[in-house]
Amino acid sequence: MRCPFCHKDQADRVLDTRPAEDGAVVRRRRQCKACNRRFTTYERVETTTIRVIKKDGTRVPFDRSRIQSGLQRACWKRPVSDKQMDSLISKVEAEIEKNFETEVQSKFIGEQVMQFLRELDQVAYVRFASVYLKFQDVRDFVNEVNSVVEDSNENF
Ligand SMILES: [Zn+2]
Repeated sequence: MRCPFCHKDQADRVLDTRPAEDGAVVRRRRQCKACNRRFTTYERVETTTIRVIKKDGTRVPFDRSRIQSGLQRACWKRPVSDKQMDSLISKVEAEIEKNFETEVQSKFIGEQVMQFLRELDQVAYVRFASVYLKFQDVRDFVNEVNSVVEDSNENF
C-alpha cells in the first residue's frame, strides 16, 4: 500500500480493520513503516457475498442471522438445538452456492429452510411455514398441517 504522505510503497502496519458502512468494504487504519504516519484505506473485500433479491426487488447481502432469527422463532420451546439450527443454515447456504453465483431470490431461501426444517421438526416447520407462506386463514394452516401428517404417515 503506497503511503499517501511519503509515497513509499514500503510495507505498512495494519493497526485496525473494521467493516465500513457498506458491508462489502473494510476500513483499515495503517501506519507507514517509512515515515510512521497513519492513514486510512477503504478496501473491497474479495469474498463474493451473494445478494438476496427480496420480494419487492431490493437486494441485500446474504445474512445468516436473518434466517437464524426466523428459525429461532419457529423452534421456540421445540427440541431443536442451536447446533441443529446452525447446520440447517449451512445446508441452505450450500444449496445457494450450488445453484446461484451472485444473486438468489429470497423465495428460494425460504423454500430451502422449509424443506430442511420439515425433516428436522414438524411443529417448527408449520410455524415457519405459517409465517413464511403468510397463511390467509385457518384453512391454509390446516391444509399444511394435513400435508405434514400425510407425509409422516407415508414414512411409517
Ligand atoms: Zn510514509
